[in-house]
Amino acid sequence: MAYDEITTLLGGWAGFEIRAVERTPGGTRTGAPQITIELSALPGHPRYCSRCGRATTEVHDVTIRRVRELPILDAETWLLVPQARVRCPDCGPTVEALPWLDRYARMTTRFADSVARLAQVLPVRQVAQWFGLSWDTVKRIDYSALAARLGPIDLTGVRVIAIDEFAIQRGHRYATTVVDPTTTRVLWVGRGRAREDVRPFFALLGPAGCHALEAAVMDMSEAYEQETRAHCPQAVIVYDLFHVVAKYGREVIDRVRVDETNRLGRAATHDRRTTAIRRVIKGTRWLLLRNRANVTRPADRVRLRELLAANRHLWVVYVLKDALKHLWAYRYPRAGQRAWRQWYGWAIRSRIPPLVAFARNLKRKLPGILAHCHYPLHTGVLEGINNTIKVLKRMAYGFRDDGYFFLKIRAAFPGIP
Ligand SMILES: [Zn+2]
Repeated sequence: MAYDEITTLLGGWAGFEIRAVERTPGGTRTGAPQITIELSALPGHPRYCSRCGRATTEVHDVTIRRVRELPILDAETWLLVPQARVRCPDCGPTVEALPWLDRYARMTTRFADSVARLAQVLPVRQVAQWFGLSWDTVKRIDYSALAARLGPIDLTGVRVIAIDEFAIQRGHRYATTVVDPTTTRVLWVGRGRAREDVRPFFALLGPAGCHALEAAVMDMSEAYEQETRAHCPQAVIVYDLFHVVAKYGREVIDRVRVDETNRLGRAATHDRRTTAIRRVIKGTRWLLLRNRANVTRPADRVRLRELLAANRHLWVVYVLKDALKHLWAYRYPRAGQRAWRQWYGWAIRSRIPPLVAFARNLKRKLPGILAHCHYPLHTGVLEGINNTIKVLKRMAYGFRDDGYFFLKIRAAFPGIP
């Protein structure tokens, strides 16, 4: 079989034929043998100006480029490509266009495509190892492939958004994700969680997009809400159930549990019963914060029952946690309003300071809870996304490059149309 037949079989290099092939064992970064293929231009084959695309046969000079090609069998493969500078009648001397090799690339287009494909499913480090490339090279290839595939962010038609933060480094740095909850498409990701950090999203949405936004679901933190109101005054703000209940857990249940443990510790009579109750309360944070339906082990159920029976305050805040969740179950604002008044009355009359404070606070936020009747949205979709983000962070080695990392996130959540 002749070289030109093999070339055709391999897919070829348009305009070139094989002049020589050399194989050397070992010697590469991966320990694989190395093949070097020397190409030469096909005689009489037209060349094209890379600027205007015009065909010409006038060659100014030729330089040999050494570039990576896809491995052949087990060997790391290199090409020696004599690339000409042509004398274009319109543009003067320009480098000839090679559709399979970009101007400054150190590898063929199909090799880069292969790297990008593998980078979709494997960590950058492993792809780099596999091909004997550097981490940065693989990242750069994956980056431009993603950028080309995803294009600029298109926010036309966005009517509702879910907005939430995630931790980049536990407890230190945060980023904000904006998602279309109806399609689960990630619309935007940015560093930080302050007002000015999310401002670029609204800039991207543009005046018309901001005006068309109907609703935004979020936690009760001020930053997201204020920034949303500033750009989209007509949009309805909906508070996410999960976040409100988590806040209740932190500010009410945790507080009461600690207060009660301390109170029992200070009690004048250290009888066996007090000590026993104190010990029960101490190790039960998870039991109180968990959904009742998720407490399944019989021993845990007994423990929870005993705990609530032994302490009135804990019992009250526990029961009101369940009642609080129910506020999100209403479809009619009037019914929701009624349920709220009842809940608020219970909370105030309990005279448990953290609960009273929480209820007073929440009263100001009531519209954001009742808004759920018209826009039954939640940020739950972001929980799953944030879990995937953690996996992507491991794969891409996280935030070394924000632009790259955010592209990976967008690629993972293109949305269901
Ligand atoms: Zn030209």
